Amino acid sequence: MKKVYLDNAATTKVDPEVFSVMKPFFADKFGNASEPHAWGQAARQAVDQAREQVASALGADPQEIIFTSCATESINLAHKGLVEALGKPEAHLITTATEHKAVLETCSHLEKTNQAKVTLLPVDQDGLLKLEDLKKAIRPETVLVSVMFVNNEVGTTQPIKEIGLMIKKINQSRDQVKKIYFHVDATQAIQYLPLNVSQLEIDLLSLTGHKIYAPKGIGVLYIRKGTPLVRQQDGGGQEYRLRAGTENIPYIAGLGQAIKQVTQNQTQVAQKVEQLRQKLIKGVLKIKGVKLIGHPTQRAPHIATFIVKGAEGEAMLLLLSDLGVAASTGSACTSGVLGPSHVLSAMGVPKNEAHGSLRFSLGKDNTSEEIDYVLKSLPKVINKLRAMAPKGV
Ligand code: PLP
Repeated sequence: MKKVYLDNAATTKVDPEVFSVMKPFFADKFGNASEPHAWGQAARQAVDQAREQVASALGADPQEIIFTSCATESINLAHKGLVEALGKPEAHLITTATEHKAVLETCSHLEKTNQAKVTLLPVDQDGLLKLEDLKKAIRPETVLVSVMFVNNEVGTTQPIKEIGLMIKKINQSRDQVKKIYFHVDATQAIQYLPLNVSQLEIDLLSLTGHKIYAPKGIGVLYIRKGTPLVRQQDGGGQEYRLRAGTENIPYIAGLGQAIKQVTQNQTQVAQKVEQLRQKLIKGVLKIKGVKLIGHPTQRAPHIATFIVKGAEGEAMLLLLSDLGVAASTGSACTSGVLGPSHVLSAMGVPKNEAHGSLRFSLGKDNTSEEIDYVLKSLPKVINKLRAMAPKGV
């Protein structure tokens, strides 16, 4: 049976070149990077090199990059570490209703523990926030604005540069103790969009390796020089004393190589993926009762999310999986309760429609033949489910 993986926004496979860079650090160059002997120094060199690779991809200094275990940890460290470092009883954070749970739950924790007040900005039907709403939400106590670059469920891109410039302008009119810091969850953006932290006026940025062909279990936090931060994991002095714990050398080396590859080949891969996605969208929209959601133009090239009338998301996934196709849905059956995703709800997608959501996310290795196969398989799946559905659904 043919196998077509179109769930790259969930995770990607490890690239063979990335894997070959990682391999020596398991059993050959296995030293602890804190040790002065040759084994330790070989490990240290690998960490230094990866730090430089990440810094170069982001237009940052290597001293502004720290390695974590994933984007979720980076986000936790950025938000909690900043709020703790500022130690302001009235800290106010602003984020959007369509962020990943890693951001929403971290903000919610800070609010529940009385460390901060949080404003969740609404988005429009395409998933886009309005700069005007952000401007209005800023208060004298605002210390952090956190906005994702690319939404993982629908692919909409937020106007990060405009937000960065707006915050910079507001900061110029405030005194330094009242600076607003800008955090960006760039997890779904780094492989497809140019991302220079200086040009975008970003202070804190989170990434994860497994969306860019590095393994799961490795992440990055970019911290602009001078940004106050208290580490959230105590112990040794690793990662500039901001993230204690012996460094995961093979994974760090892999992430360095992966980020180098995705940024070097960005334009080429983005064009290829965009073309395949357009073919997919064109074909899927030929099926009756199907619409595309997310912003029509302000979107990353790898994600296409549809609402399918009369077919339930998880059922479509299972039948597609039987035909060898991997996709995803924003409708998940949690604890026996069928609920639409917070992203689709925030975009105003009615509950009954959200249940029929289907996300395809492409990657660098997908082919035109694979899209043909999906376009042949999907109508069969939808027709089968519609035939089973009670009339009037
Ligand atoms: N942010 C976004 C936009 C994501 O898509 C994901 C992963 O799905 C994360 C954060 C969290 O990444 P990780 O699970 O590697 O911490």
